[in-house]
Amino acid sequence: MRAARIPQGLTLLVLRESKVPVKQLYVPKPVLVYVPFAAVLSISSLIISLHLRSADRIAGLQQELADQQLAMEAVVSDKDEALRRLRSQVVSLAAETRQVQGRLAEVSGLQEQLESFLADSGLSEPSPEEESEASTASLKSASLGWSPGLAAGGEFIAAYQLEAGQGTEALLDETQDDLEAINELIDHMKAQIPAQLDKAQARLEALSSTPSLWPTPSRSLTSSFGYRSDPFTGKSAFHAGIDIGGHTGDPVYAAAAGVVTSVQRDGSRGNFIVIQHGNSLETWYMHLSASVVKQGDNVLKGQIIGKLGNTGRSTGPHLHFQVMKRHEPVNPLPYIQ
Ligand SMILES: [Zn+2]
Repeated sequence: MRAARIPQGLTLLVLRESKVPVKQLYVPKPVLVYVPFAAVLSISSLIISLHLRSADRIAGLQQELADQQLAMEAVVSDKDEALRRLRSQVVSLAAETRQVQGRLAEVSGLQEQLESFLADSGLSEPSPEEESEASTASLKSASLGWSPGLAAGGEFIAAYQLEAGQGTEALLDETQDDLEAINELIDHMKAQIPAQLDKAQARLEALSSTPSLWPTPSRSLTSSFGYRSDPFTGKSAFHAGIDIGGHTGDPVYAAAAGVVTSVQRDGSRGNFIVIQHGNSLETWYMHLSASVVKQGDNVLKGQIIGKLGNTGRSTGPHLHFQVMKRHEPVNPLPYIQ
């Protein structure tokens, strides 16, 4: 028996409208076999190609994503590093601030020593206001002086906390407070120093042993140095000093710092005081109503030594002021004007 024959081809009849003749198409066997196969093959290869392209694209995207992740990690790592550096800078800034604060407190202590030296000099008695200011200053600097040392232990803990990313803000706040305290102390010192310089200048001047100070409030010169007609006899006589008219009881000041070598009374000079200035100079103060110093006293320039009067050979209340250089009278005016 013969096997069923595979047809050699296929005849297709195309029927259209009735007037149009029937069209007959013959499709040979190879076409019948190969066309579907080719179609399947090309669709398969299209799918495979699409699949490959997608895989490729996905791999590309994955690579891109990985690259971006790496870049971001690098950025984050940079930021972490920057943050770590900033924190360490905050810690050292805080430490430095405390050091400055401590040193400033030391300077403030020195300034207080100067203040009490000037106050102890006896020349510049602080007013009650100044005294209260000084005690305020002392309190301030006492708290400022010790707080850095006391807080140093706390700071170490703060630095440790910073490693764990904590405490930065607290430390910054503390540093801010410290800086404010420093500013306050500097302001206080700036306000104090000019007055202290004035006091120091006055102290230096008070210690000066060259006669330069007009010895009484009045500036009324009633008789000058040199030859004149004597107020009692009318005869020509040498006047060894100057006479300054004033009121009995007016203060008489030491014209320079020195040692009181004489506090006496005689018929001609009345109550008189002699001060030796240690540079071959002496000043004499005559006709006083009273003396408020005694022999051997050390006096400062400007210190009250007695009261103006009318004692001895005098025609009215006045101060006879005399400057002696190497035991010879010289004109006082060049010294005290
Ligand atoms: Zn005189």
